[in-house]
Amino acid sequence: MITPDGLDRILAFMPMFERPPSSLYEVRPDLSMMDPYIYSPEFTQFIQALYRENLVIDFNWVAWKDEANRYFENPTELESADLETLQKLITTHVRADRFNSGHLAQMVENGQILAILKRLAMIRGQMEDCGADIKQRIQVIQGDITHQQVDAIVNAANESLLGGGGVDGAIHRAAGPELLAECRALGGCPTGEAKITQGYDLPAQWVIHTVGPIWQGGHRGEDERLADCYRNSLALAVAHNIRTLAFPAISTGVYGFPLERATGIALAEVKAFLSRSDAVEAVRFVCFGNEAYQIYHAMLSTL
Ligand code: ADP
Repeated sequence: MITPDGLDRILAFMPMFERPPSSLYEVRPDLSMMDPYIYSPEFTQFIQALYRENLVIDFNWVAWKDEANRYFENPTELESADLETLQKLITTHVRADRFNSGHLAQMVENGQILAILKRLAMIRGQMEDCGADIKQRIQVIQGDITHQQVDAIVNAANESLLGGGGVDGAIHRAAGPELLAECRALGGCPTGEAKITQGYDLPAQWVIHTVGPIWQGGHRGEDERLADCYRNSLALAVAHNIRTLAFPAISTGVYGFPLERATGIALAEVKAFLSRSDAVEAVRFVCFGNEAYQIYHAMLSTL
């Protein structure tokens, strides 16, 4: 995966390509006719970093060489290239160099590598804007979900939707008996799906009931079902014009889902959703204990 930090480590090499290219390599035809180009340690480190940060990818670059040429011949097209195209371009040039010694040196001399890095820097800038905006829309607090002043709270229910222990019990107690009456009419809910009711005596107008998976060791589709809970809850929120939404740590209580793994899924799903849609303004994760709060908080900072 490409990360903003990984791109920063690549872009740190950029000044090297603004210097005369001859400082990056020597040509010694006398040493070996097959491989006369000797790259400087700095240039070699750059190439290694391209591999390490996943800019060199596994794909059929030989079949893509004409495409790479097209970007070379039409520099303006490079200005709108996406990250995947840049990965393909970089891969093609790095791989071609292993068959054709000096190919990369030529790409440095003709400015192609610098042009690719400049486009990469633009994409990196956009990533930061987007990331900062999304992080502001995700809140992590320690508290009780039944007290949240949001449009909707999410309940980690069971398939019967008839109440239970943990957060489910707390929500039913705080909402009052009318919630159970409305739930009875819903006829249950399969794992991974979500259904909506009113919030009754809760400060929240709505309750979205979703059924998390019971942890069975991690190989029974638990990750996917948990991701479904977040996706389906968010989809219901959009359908009901819900602008603010609070989630508990679904499945991490009696259902036994490991907290860190569940947190990674929760944050990834919510982040992906918020980056696609402005329909929901903010999502709050309500952690019941300090342990959950510490984990959410730490994982949010690495998003
Ligand atoms: P599940 O059956 O999905 O595991 P639980 O209710 O047992 O559901 O636990 C889910 C999470 O909700 C746990 O992390 C638990 O600590 C937390 N929780 C329990 N009560 C509350 C509450 N009042 N507010 C927020 N979170 C709560």
